[in-house]
Amino acid sequence: MKIIRFKYQKKISWGELRKNDVYCFSMSPFKSINYSGLKLKQVDVQFLAPVNPSKVVCVGLNYRGHARELGMADFSEPVIFLKPQSSVIGPGAVIKYPSSVSRLDYEAELALVIGKTCSAVSEEAALEHIFGYTGLNDVTARCIQSRDGQWTRAKSFDTFCPIGPCIETNLKKITNCRIKLYLNSRLKQDGCTSDFVFAIRYLVSFISRVMTLYPGDIISTGTPQGVGPMQRGDTVEVSIEGIGRLKNTVV
Ligand code: MG
Repeated sequence: MKIIRFKYQKKISWGELRKNDVYCFSMSPFKSINYSGLKLKQVDVQFLAPVNPSKVVCVGLNYRGHARELGMADFSEPVIFLKPQSSVIGPGAVIKYPSSVSRLDYEAELALVIGKTCSAVSEEAALEHIFGYTGLNDVTARCIQSRDGQWTRAKSFDTFCPIGPCIETNLKKITNCRIKLYLNSRLKQDGCTSDFVFAIRYLVSFISRVMTLYPGDIISTGTPQGVGPMQRGDTVEVSIEGIGRLKNTVV
């Protein structure tokens, strides 16, 4: 099932996307899947980020190819960092290029959405706590990332976390899923989750031993090789097999 969060007539709701129609829910899908009976046309609703997470936990260097392109060895443990709620935007929203930044990069990522509160969950039980999967662009001020030595400022500007377009609750090929990025319709990243250093069940378990994860929280699983810069006026699309395309423009 593909679930979207959207605005329609000034009201924010959730619904299931089926072809070009939206079957509206009467409550948050994190409580229960309840249809309200209202059906809308996809073109009539404004897509929002499919969740409003309390936190976005990102994994650095989780693809062997990307670790190689940055000249980094694989790590024995995941490197994790946070993006704030204030950085989250939805499909179609604009990424604002900060005037203090000289290099702004895209990073196409598969993100998972937590469905049940979890703390110190085992790898065996980890997947039960996942609600579904979505796309994420881990927008990065690369010039600041290298200058600061740690990543908070580089990763956290407003609009630096596009998420969407939907949550797929039944992603079939999780361990063999293609992750692509198009910049102005040109293919720039083309990776596969089979290149992961750390498996998803391991990441959920590892992160939940650090911080309690709540329904709607996001874990972004890292980006494949091919990262590069964006310019003002560019259109950037994260395309995840089985989920869809997350399209944003840079201003
Ligand atoms: Mg990243």
